[in-house]
Amino acid sequence: MPGSAPPVVIIIGRPNVGKSTLFNRLIGKKLALVDDQPGVTRDRRMGDAIVAGLEFTAVDTAGWEDEDAETLPGRMRAQTEISLEGADAALFVFDSRAGLTPLDSEIARWLRGQDVPVVLVANKAEGRAGDGGIYESFALGFGEPVALSAEHGEGVADLFDALWPIIGAKAEAAEEAEAAAALDEDEDAPLGPLKLAIVGRPNAGKSTLINRLLGEDRLLTGPEAGITRDSIAVDWLWTDKDGESCEVRLIDTAGMRKKANVVEKLEKMSVADARRAVDFAEVVVLLLDAERGLEHQDLKIASLVLEEGRALMIAINKWDVAGQASGGSASGLFNGIKGALADGLSQVRGLPVLTVSARTGKGLDTMIGAAFELREAWSKRVGTAALNRWFDDAMEANPPPAPGGKRIKLRYITQAGTRPPRFVIFGTRLDALPKSYERYLVNSIRKSLGFEAVPIRVTLKTSKNPFADQGKS
Ligand code: GDP
Ligand code: GDP
Repeated sequence: MPGSAPPVVIIIGRPNVGKSTLFNRLIGKKLALVDDQPGVTRDRRMGDAIVAGLEFTAVDTAGWEDEDAETLPGRMRAQTEISLEGADAALFVFDSRAGLTPLDSEIARWLRGQDVPVVLVANKAEGRAGDGGIYESFALGFGEPVALSAEHGEGVADLFDALWPIIGAKAEAAEEAEAAAALDEDEDAPLGPLKLAIVGRPNAGKSTLINRLLGEDRLLTGPEAGITRDSIAVDWLWTDKDGESCEVRLIDTAGMRKKANVVEKLEKMSVADARRAVDFAEVVVLLLDAERGLEHQDLKIASLVLEEGRALMIAINKWDVAGQASGGSASGLFNGIKGALADGLSQVRGLPVLTVSARTGKGLDTMIGAAFELREAWSKRVGTAALNRWFDDAMEANPPPAPGGKRIKLRYITQAGTRPPRFVIFGTRLDALPKSYERYLVNSIRKSLGFEAVPIRVTLKTSKNPFADQGKS
């Protein structure tokens, strides 16, 4: 649905002016991981923001400028420029206590040449300590700044006043569209762009893959692990084999940053990264490096994605060299990884495992096609009649046990939701039902009803006491 997405507001400014603080304030959460390791401190860069009821997507650019200042500024700036392309407004933040610096003026000059409405924000303006900087800032050419204190939450109403004329209409349209979609049963509405996240350890080739898909240098790539550090969403049209254009929203996470010297901490952060990707994504591609195979951390990430109920697929990257290097035993490598996955991830049996080469592009069309199919299954609803036919068959084939001579009664099943598929089984004496029988039912749902490759949730509800339910997956 064109025009129904919330407006995007990008937060720009030199380091230390309070961009991340403002971002956190706008999205109303304390998301930033605090860490004194340069380059690993930064957190999610997109979030659902709300200012006095005005809803938009906020993008934080903190960290794009202040890392590796010697070698990367131009590339970092290129990233900001790309993000500006899709933005509906820019919040240009300066530090009103510190006053203007040459860098502020440079950013201002550059921003004036961009095609985006700019709201100048005088941050750290609590008390009156910012007054001098506020007057000075008129020289930047963006009019009167919005004086606020990101840290203390002051000045939010003024920010609303400044943003409303720019993004208000789009925000309202998005809200209406959302309300309309909520009225429709979710699975009847068109699915919209496929929200696809690429996760994996540093150097698995995530950035190369996304650049290859998009056909342009959207993301920084390089041999240094962890050089892409942010979640970035890019809308893209993929052409399927019938020549139809399909919308894809690609989410790249900075992924699984792992530098030799900070492995411990980064282990934790990489999981946090995957979790963030999962927030945005319907389907998650876990990219493996064929030259390294399946590592413990991959399994951890995969489990997390499944626990969060997202559809997961595995793509083994760098197949261009893996095939050659292993002297023809590529299929051995493939089967080895598949086996290790089956052992390590008991939750889901039929995970799609594909081989790709981000470098040559081989296998990528198949991968995207498979991702669309996976989303189909993840979004599928089985009618109650068909579901209960399966249910009766499953119980006839393997009746529930009768602990202490009293049979456990399973009465019926409904599908309570989709994305991921959720089922509720009603019955009596369900607390006595052995785990093994639940597993039997879950596996049978997967196999018989076409949910093999996606995580499903099954809840048991005792008919007598509807509140005594337990979540299962
Ligand atoms: P970024 O590099 O632009 O993302 O800046 P940060 O959000 O990391 O903030 C830089 C420093 O400014 C931190 O020490 C913040 O606590 C501080 N800061 C942010 N907002 C305010 C504010 O409104 N008032 C004051 N006094 N300090 C702030
Ligand atoms: P990221 O950290 O996951 O984003 O990984 P990058 O995209 O930066 O890639 C890491 C390294 O692997 C780079 O040197 C890439 O050129 C290389 N690479 C990525 N994909 C492939 C591939 O399909 N084949 C080969 N041979 N190398 C690749």
